Amino acid sequence: MSPAPASAARRRLLQLGLGTAACSALGAGWPALSAFAGELEDFIKGPPVPDIAPQRLSQHVWMIYAPDGFPTPENQGLMCNVTFAITSEGVVMLDSGGSLQIGEMVIRQIRRLTDKPVVAVFNSHYHGDHWLANHAFEDAYGKDLPIYAHPHTTREIRGVQGNLWRGLLERWTNQATAGTRIVPPNHDVEHGAEFDFGDLTLRVHHYGVAHTPGDICLEVVEDRLTYVGDVAMDRRIANMDDGSYPGTFHCYDELERNTGSAIWVPGHGHAGAQVLHWNRELFAGIWENCVAAVEQGLPIDAARAAVLRDPRVAASAAETLGFDANIGKYVSLAYLEAEKEAF
Ligand SMILES: [Zn+2]
Repeated sequence: MSPAPASAARRRLLQLGLGTAACSALGAGWPALSAFAGELEDFIKGPPVPDIAPQRLSQHVWMIYAPDGFPTPENQGLMCNVTFAITSEGVVMLDSGGSLQIGEMVIRQIRRLTDKPVVAVFNSHYHGDHWLANHAFEDAYGKDLPIYAHPHTTREIRGVQGNLWRGLLERWTNQATAGTRIVPPNHDVEHGAEFDFGDLTLRVHHYGVAHTPGDICLEVVEDRLTYVGDVAMDRRIANMDDGSYPGTFHCYDELERNTGSAIWVPGHGHAGAQVLHWNRELFAGIWENCVAAVEQGLPIDAARAAVLRDPRVAASAAETLGFDANIGKYVSLAYLEAEKEAF
């Protein structure tokens, strides 16, 4: 579906000399103007996201799979899987999605599967494709709906990252996500927190900096499944701007030791038993060559060449979305982190 109506609306608003701030200022007190402002708000909302049927991953857990690795006007920002559990107490979101419109689509799918309301939302980290749909869940289930995240994630969503991601997704999708409002998490969770949802237990795992400083992984205990957010991906290359390579390996070790999980569910790519292994091989091929280059005093170009020659990296290159565009940057980040570790 074309996101054109949203951008056409934006243009018309600009012609009218009305920015978003002006629209909300119009609302107060004047019924006619207030109705006008309401119409404008609808007008600048991006179009609905087409339905994607959920796939069942385990007894309680379902996933709406995102086939694309990156946001575009065509996919309207749907680049991140949306995973949820249907429990005897209600529906629990393991990340909510990347826009108001994506959240509304997800709620339509949930209502086809169960009459139960959504009773809790978790946000795995602060990258906007995972939580901007909180807006849709608050609209549908009320302001008292608990939204849980690590305190670092909440700080970032309330701070620079929240607005940054909202703007980026609007830009990358040609404003298909327009109308999405930032709804930050309202409850902190830490490592070891456990939630009882009747027939299902959810356990929170956090092992320091991995993909970001505030990642939480969510173990669905009875189903022997863990949602790992972006700590691990399947045939995608992760954004490591705020992450750590050794921190990621540490996180994998701890998840394997401390969960009884046989299925790993990533935010990007397919769920399965091999997800941690696949990502570990790719990252080890990047990290170990950067450490070796730093130890030998070799420049970053030599590190990059060694990474690309590494069979673990070469094996992943062809099947990994975003590989060519990102490998140089992520080698640089690994090299910088290896330098920092060496001192
Ligand atoms: Zn992420």
